[in-house]
Amino acid sequence: MSELNQLIYEKKTVYEKAGKEVVEAAYEYAKGYVKFLDAAKTEREAVAEGVKLAEAAGYRPYQFGDAIKAGDKFYYNNRNKNIFLFRIGTEPINNGIRITAAHIDSPRLDLKQVPVYEDNGMCFLKTHYYGGIRKYQWLALPLALHGVVVKQSGEVVDVVIGEDETDPVLYITDLLPHLAAGQNEKNIAHAFVGEKLNILVGSRPLDGADKDAVKMGVLRYLNDKYGIIEEDLLSAELSLVPAAKARDLGFDRSMICGYGHDDRVCAYPSITAMIDTEDTLHTNMCLLVDKEETGSDGVTGMQSSLITDLITEIAKALGGNEATVRANSKCLSSDVTATFDPNYADVYEHRNSSLLGCGIGMCKYTGSRGKGGTSDASAELVAWVRRCLNEAGVVWQTSELGKVDVGGGGTVAKYMANHNIDTVDLGVGVLSMHAPYEVIAKVDLYEAYRAFKAFYAF
Ligand code: MN
Ligand code: MN
Repeated sequence: MSELNQLIYEKKTVYEKAGKEVVEAAYEYAKGYVKFLDAAKTEREAVAEGVKLAEAAGYRPYQFGDAIKAGDKFYYNNRNKNIFLFRIGTEPINNGIRITAAHIDSPRLDLKQVPVYEDNGMCFLKTHYYGGIRKYQWLALPLALHGVVVKQSGEVVDVVIGEDETDPVLYITDLLPHLAAGQNEKNIAHAFVGEKLNILVGSRPLDGADKDAVKMGVLRYLNDKYGIIEEDLLSAELSLVPAAKARDLGFDRSMICGYGHDDRVCAYPSITAMIDTEDTLHTNMCLLVDKEETGSDGVTGMQSSLITDLITEIAKALGGNEATVRANSKCLSSDVTATFDPNYADVYEHRNSSLLGCGIGMCKYTGSRGKGGTSDASAELVAWVRRCLNEAGVVWQTSELGKVDVGGGGTVAKYMANHNIDTVDLGVGVLSMHAPYEVIAKVDLYEAYRAFKAFYAF
């Protein structure tokens, strides 16, 4: 009988496969993750947290041209929005680098450059959403403002409003059901439009102002608190994110509900696995990148030449050949995947979907329709990762986003693969992906940590 069972591939949960100690360790590990989620709601905040973790673990800032030797631990802070950690192994650099790449930007609402206006005694801020959001999910809930304002002088002003218990919060109004008959007739794409995602930020007129007195009150507040004027908002990056904190979810506390699991639920385990791994044979690199949600473009996105620049510099410093290093490197594109949701079972294909609690999910390919836009990892690479994870006792599963022809998506995998680096997607499954509050299972988060540790050392 047991011989026959070996013939069959069956997904099992971490609870069934890994036992109580691993589950308890997962609950413990999740506490650090929840703190990270609350401290790092934007890519800039995630980089700041990443620098703290890296420095505490003995990583030093790297500059192009620095001497590099085995055992060295460096981080490269790219414009405060993207960070690379790397640790030099003892084997020849031409054997390649073990790389993980996660992203630290999440869907949100960005302020426009000229955001402030007054209408009927209310002051609003205009927004332009960032990433793929379902617009209706962002209405009628407390929001916080995060980001930076850079004055003409170059002075950077950090802004966080709405996180402290004593802070005010911000808000987008929604239509009352009593008057929604017309809206109810429309499909969702037309019922909710981007230009109505305006943030309510004030309603009290400023004494002595004769025009736009409510707006003047808001500008007065911003000037008193941050020393900024309206024109300073032209050179700012300010984002609205949910104001509430990450929380345990469920009576059994087995899950976490929070903002930005996509993709901090992979970023946190990859950076903690990196700093918890020492003395490896291979050189390891952990990338936390920006702009994934808008296509990975720009100087802080995965399509920037910075990754190849760094590999070239490392190869050069260690007497290797950059093309050889890339050809022999392996990368886990650590981005989230969709967890099968029984409430929307019709869009998933159960056999190939990530199931909650069954460990980290491997997507051999992503894309939409006929796998459009996928880099499709080779069977050889998948077999190699299988061996790596199985030998380490990591609970993992295969994963596909949804049913063929229903939709699709992509990650940073193809941009890495385009550099001639073997890459496969390995990430945690998420429920309600891209919603203001997303859901993950603690045991899946922990298997991600165990998987990345195994990969760095394998
Ligand atoms: Mn993602
Ligand atoms: Mn995403």
